[in-house]
Amino acid sequence: MNQIAQHLFQVKERIAQAAKQANRNQQQIQLLAVSKTKPIEAVITAYAAGQRCFGESYAQEAATKIDTLRQQPEYSDIEWHFIGPLQSNKSKLVAERFDWVQSVDRDKLIERLNNQRPASMAPLNICLQINISGESSKSGTSEQEIFRLAEQVSHSERLVLRGLMAIPEHTRDEAVLGSQMARMQALFTELAQQYPSVDTLSMGMTEDLELAIAHGSTMVRVGTAIFGARDYS
Ligand SMILES: *Cc1c(COP(=O)(O)O)cnc(C)c1O
Repeated sequence: MNQIAQHLFQVKERIAQAAKQANRNQQQIQLLAVSKTKPIEAVITAYAAGQRCFGESYAQEAATKIDTLRQQPEYSDIEWHFIGPLQSNKSKLVAERFDWVQSVDRDKLIERLNNQRPASMAPLNICLQINISGESSKSGTSEQEIFRLAEQVSHSERLVLRGLMAIPEHTRDEAVLGSQMARMQALFTELAQQYPSVDTLSMGMTEDLELAIAHGSTMVRVGTAIFGARDYS
C-alpha cells in the first residue's frame, strides 16, 4: 500500500473509533480529503485508494487541478469542496467548478455565487462559515448573522443550504475547543430545524477530529494526516 492509501486507512480508523466512542454511526461522518498545496498526483493516488471528496482552499490552484481531472472521464465522480477564504473576484472560478462552497460568510458572496453558477450544473451546495473563536484573523461570520445569511441562501435559486462550517481556535485546550464545538452543534441543530436541506456540520481536522465527532460533526476535513505536512499554507 502506498503512503497516502495507508494514511487514509488510518484516518478512517480514527473516525470509526471516535464514532464508536460517541455512540454514533460511522456512516454519518464523511471524510473530506484536503488536498490544498498538494500536486494533482496526490489527488489521483487518494482517488485510487477510494477517496471521492476533496477540499481545496486556493481558487486558482484548485481550478487548474479540477480542469485537468475533468478532462479524464474516470474522475468525473470526484466531489470538490471549496473551503478557503473566498475573495469576491475569485467567486466565478469557484462557482463554475466546485460542487460545494463551505466558506460562505457574507451576502455579497451569496449573491455572486448564485448569479455565477452555470445553469447547466447542479445547484451549488453551501455551508456558512462561522468564526466560532471570534479571532480577528479568522474568516467567517458571527453567530448573530447566520440566520439572516441562511435565509438569503434558501431564497437563492442556484444554491442549496447544506449547513455550517467552522475552524475552531488552534489550541490543544480541550475545554476551549469543546465549548466552541458545542456552540456549533447547537447552532447546527437549530438551523436544521428551520431548513430541511441542512444536514452538514463540517468540523474537525487532523488535530481535533475525535472531539469534533463527539460534538456532532458530520464531515471532517483532513489534510496533514492524509497527505503529510504542507510546504506552505
Ligand atoms: C487546511 C485546512 C484543513 C485541513 O487541516 P489539517 O490540519 O491539515 O488536517 C481543514 N479545513 C480547512 C478550512 C483548511 O483550510
